[in-house]
Amino acid sequence: MKQNTIIKSAGRKGKGVFAAKSFKKGDLIFRNKKGRVVNKNDISKLSKYDQKHLNEIDNETFEIMQPPGVFVNHSCEPNSIPKGQSFFALKSIQKCEEITSDYRVTGLFKNKWKCRCGTKNCKGYMVSDFFSLTPKLQKNYLPYTLKVIREEYKRRHSKS
Ligand SMILES: [Zn+2]
Repeated sequence: MKQNTIIKSAGRKGKGVFAAKSFKKGDLIFRNKKGRVVNKNDISKLSKYDQKHLNEIDNETFEIMQPPGVFVNHSCEPNSIPKGQSFFALKSIQKCEEITSDYRVTGLFKNKWKCRCGTKNCKGYMVSDFFSLTPKLQKNYLPYTLKVIREEYKRRHSKS
């Protein structure tokens, strides 16, 4: 099968994932291999590289991200969204365009990152927290987020 994506330099952001063909909104871009799942108590035993490339699963467990997903850069206006191991196109994507996703979709731990995405809505930083997204985006991204975040969303919305 022809590859859907290529990994190459994305300038200041380091490596990035780029479209090797065009995609329509809703298309599956790629499915990522599942990485090893670790408990938060074991994170300190991982290599520095793996420690920087963890995916939240819930408050206790993480997955060590595998390529190409591990190289997908954050954007405050992304063109893709992960659901489980699969990345889907949020809009039409041209060949050679960089594939980006919004890390806040699965953001649990409120880490603050410097953001170099350069999009119109970018504040220059990003807080990895689903609930820092606008109410509209929270609603749009809800089907894609983690179970723990969906439950928290339900809790917050049942109070009113
Ligand atoms: Zn940004």
